[in-house]
Amino acid sequence: MQPRIVCPECGEAKDLTGAPSPEGIEIRCGRCDATWLRDAAPQVCATCGGSDLQTRPLALTQYSRGTQLSIVGMSEILLCRSCDHEMLEWSKAGRAVPFTYRSAALDAAAGHERAKGDKRGAVRIEP
Ligand SMILES: [Zn+2]
Ligand SMILES: [Zn+2]
Repeated sequence: MQPRIVCPECGEAKDLTGAPSPEGIEIRCGRCDATWLRDAAPQVCATCGGSDLQTRPLALTQYSRGTQLSIVGMSEILLCRSCDHEMLEWSKAGRAVPFTYRSAALDAAAGHERAKGDKRGAVRIEP
């Protein structure tokens, strides 16, 4: 379903890496070092195939001083309005998505586990 991504400069299709950037997913070509934004094509949810997706802030966290979790940076994560409904509501309340959250929009396995009621892939949400 995903369109094939090729480098607009040299046509490389395999040696490509993606990284989140403020404008979307930035692709870098390993052959000629060109970079461009992938999001010319609309993204779809990996779990349900829907296109009703939202990008939300993601907290990059690490344990400092033993057990205290501190936010060391922010990134972004893609959430599906139906499959990631709970996390979307959590995020809309002004909280960042935890780093450990597995987005159903990006990870079909996580979405299907959640749909079956298997909570192993779910993150513990604390107030
Ligand atoms: Zn290239
Ligand atoms: Zn979905």
